[in-house]
Amino acid sequence: MRSLYTVNEAANLKMCWDLKNFNEDWAILLRSKVFRGRKVISHHIFSSIWSSVKSEMNNITDNCRWIIGNGENINFCLDTWLDKPVASILNFPDTFHTSLTATVSDYIQNSFWHISQSVSDSYPTLYNLVMQITLPKFPKEDKLIWESSSTGNLSLKEAFLFKYSVGQNISWAKDVWSPDIPPSKSLMTWRLMHNKLPTDDNMALRGCNLPSMCSSCHAFGETAFHLFFECSFAQKLWSWLASLLNKPLLFNSLADIWAILDNSWTPQCKVVVQACIVNLLNIIWYRRKNIRFQDKIVDWRTSINLIISKVSLSGNLTSKTAASNMLEFTILKACKVNIKPPRPSLIKEVIWAPPLSSWVKVNIDGASIPTRAVAGGIFRNFEGVCLGGFSQFLGDANALHAELIAAMNAIEVAALMGFSNVWLESDSQLVILAFKSNTVVPWGLRNRWENCIHITHKMRFCVSQIYREGNICADSLANFGLSLSSLDLFWFDIIPDFVRREYNRNRLGMPNFRFVTFSLLLMN
Ligand SMILES: [Zn+2]
Repeated sequence: MRSLYTVNEAANLKMCWDLKNFNEDWAILLRSKVFRGRKVISHHIFSSIWSSVKSEMNNITDNCRWIIGNGENINFCLDTWLDKPVASILNFPDTFHTSLTATVSDYIQNSFWHISQSVSDSYPTLYNLVMQITLPKFPKEDKLIWESSSTGNLSLKEAFLFKYSVGQNISWAKDVWSPDIPPSKSLMTWRLMHNKLPTDDNMALRGCNLPSMCSSCHAFGETAFHLFFECSFAQKLWSWLASLLNKPLLFNSLADIWAILDNSWTPQCKVVVQACIVNLLNIIWYRRKNIRFQDKIVDWRTSINLIISKVSLSGNLTSKTAASNMLEFTILKACKVNIKPPRPSLIKEVIWAPPLSSWVKVNIDGASIPTRAVAGGIFRNFEGVCLGGFSQFLGDANALHAELIAAMNAIEVAALMGFSNVWLESDSQLVILAFKSNTVVPWGLRNRWENCIHITHKMRFCVSQIYREGNICADSLANFGLSLSSLDLFWFDIIPDFVRREYNRNRLGMPNFRFVTFSLLLMN
């Protein structure tokens, strides 16, 4: 459930963004009424839109930055186009601000940074930061982007996420819910996990202080932990589950239950075990209700049969599959679940193909593990002969960044080497997509990306996708980046030894094999 208040705030933020960036009539008209140069008006005007969105203006200023086009609309010192405005990097006092009128375009000449010697000598840190910003090599408008969105555009969804304070992050949240278990059962479990069931101890906390007694064993006061774990009835059910799973179950807290699911169950069996736990907790709770309010006692054998019948339903209706393994087989059988064998897998041949003569083919790859990312690529001619390759260590970046940087490196190197017919091949679908629409490209890379697209327009250029199994040379070169200590591009003139075997296999046209399950095959 979303709070309407937050949704409304998010809609206002989005409207404020549209007001600043859209070129529709309403936005142009309202902008002319409320903006006075860099500032907004402080007096009242009759506009329902403005009165609701003006409070969001600061959020827009604080969370946006400029992507430089021609630089004419960006104030060099006061606008954010580096991580912080230049005025705050250099600690200019506020009183100076009105006199800082230079735009970014004043520091650009012919698409290159033009910063005078005296400025770079006095502010070396600023100079280094500026030099890292890629300028577009063709005419382009400045663009304001929303920093936390990868596309740079503020969608209503992004606005909502910005306004919505993130809730708790709990490890068992995903274990409680499953499409194969009725939501009403999961809901009861969810309430138990949050200690929100009306057990006697919780009622007392809410001021309903009555003498408390466990309805099942009549020996202890009722707390959630006693009812579900310590009570003799609960213990019978848990020991049934323990013998079913053939492992001891020890719980010190509610959250410990879900440790059972940490085991490497195959998907169908996981659903069954999950359904066992959820239904077991439900049975305990409804048995207590029956004893208290209807004087009906259900004995533990009947309860277990009840659990099995519900688990059997979940286990048989799920579309997930199980592997043949003795323990899982016994569990599924005991719960009257028919085992669903995994789908047959098929073998597909993947062959790397050389380009036509006079063409150069570059295979690229990027990869990332937490905090470290790498990119690599290899250029080959129509005989499959290596013309060179590169590896780069990228520091902290995500997989898409790494793939895109590999593609940009390849294009820039191809231009430097004077190749005019270039075939770029990647195993990433997103890279292929990025060549069709640059909205895929995160804003931090967009200027460099558009420069590269500009370069490809001067070549005969095509892109294609290959399965990972056909892209092993590029993959190995990328992984070599992990051993590099600097962030510079590392260039190989000849094929290094660690890829020679795969390189020769590619040259000889030898296939690699890909195992695909039937459903994937239909999609491809
Ligand atoms: Zn009890």
